[in-house]
Amino acid sequence: MSRKIIENRFKEIKRIVIKIGSNLIVDPQTNQICEENIQNLINGILFLKKKQKEVILVSSGAVAFGNKKIKAINQNINSFFSNSIIRKQALASIGQIELMNYYNQVFQKNHLKISQVLITAKDFGERETYLNIGHTIQELVKLDFIPVINENDTVSTDEIKFGDNDFLSAAVAALLNSQLLILLTSVEGFMIEGKRISNLESISPDLMEHAKGPTGFGSGGMNSKLRVGKLCLQAGVDVAILPGKLKNVIQDFFGCEDVGTFIFSKEKKFLKARKKWILFSRSRGSVFIDEGAEKALLNNGSSLLINGIKKVEGKFLSGDVVEIKNLQNTILGRGIVNISDKNLKKYLLEKNKIDKSSYPTEIIHRDNLILE
Ligand code: GLU
Repeated sequence: MSRKIIENRFKEIKRIVIKIGSNLIVDPQTNQICEENIQNLINGILFLKKKQKEVILVSSGAVAFGNKKIKAINQNINSFFSNSIIRKQALASIGQIELMNYYNQVFQKNHLKISQVLITAKDFGERETYLNIGHTIQELVKLDFIPVINENDTVSTDEIKFGDNDFLSAAVAALLNSQLLILLTSVEGFMIEGKRISNLESISPDLMEHAKGPTGFGSGGMNSKLRVGKLCLQAGVDVAILPGKLKNVIQDFFGCEDVGTFIFSKEKKFLKARKKWILFSRSRGSVFIDEGAEKALLNNGSSLLINGIKKVEGKFLSGDVVEIKNLQNTILGRGIVNISDKNLKKYLLEKNKIDKSSYPTEIIHRDNLILE
């Protein structure tokens, strides 16, 4: 079976984000660098650059490289499988430099120039910083460098983490208005009962049940790839989950070969920059709304008003992103709130006694809101 849709899409694509997972970089069994997989990635990048495409790389592997290094020094140390976050943060610090050293050597051999960009989710939570990161990455691309992005694990505590690089790469793809995100993985693609699913135009909750969590050094797994696929469908970014061990997989994908799993929408969606930011930034809490407000949001295109809110969770300030849920705990969307959790809670407790005019009526404006 061929994927003719790629032929037309390929012409439109200017900028591609490629993400490579840890298990393709360091073999979790042997602890050796997977040189062939990395050369395969480089050959794919060379092919795309020849076709005048801009390429941005998101690479995991800092923790895996750190683990490799520390094992080489002291065979007895229980490095990776020490579950502490602090140990992983230390391993990332040791490994990031090793990873980049290795990349620098092999990319240079192939006449490619690279630069390093380390990001935390906190940087993405502040719109100003988020936009600046985008400008810097674009400048690097203009200078003909391939930005190699990773999460700055060493300074990212659990609370402020992206969590995995699938999500980080999707957020980067949306920020850079890239048309395609390639997720290179150690499996064939998204599988249901042993059969690879070739194309997906939507991601339903029952599909998610077939997607498993991470293995080996990885922290994403298929579950996070589908979750990211869903967000990317909303943001207008196509996603190709491709088997990174397959020789020339990127070239074959663009040659319309049926490899991996392609998540796309037939009609190209367009989402404003501000809404993309809302989609990918970390939510600080949730507001729970009643049925009337749910209908108004879903059917009438209304803003979220204060009198539809019944419950509040989390800690947030005016200007933060929160999730909007109904009273059955179903996520309906997310948006930027005009009030802090403190004031909103106060309003809910005392609404019959207080002067309502001192509170905003519109809690999330329609322009600052995105539905599931
Ligand atoms: N940032 C982590 C690393 O470089 C990997 C995160 C992930 O596997 O998604 O090791």
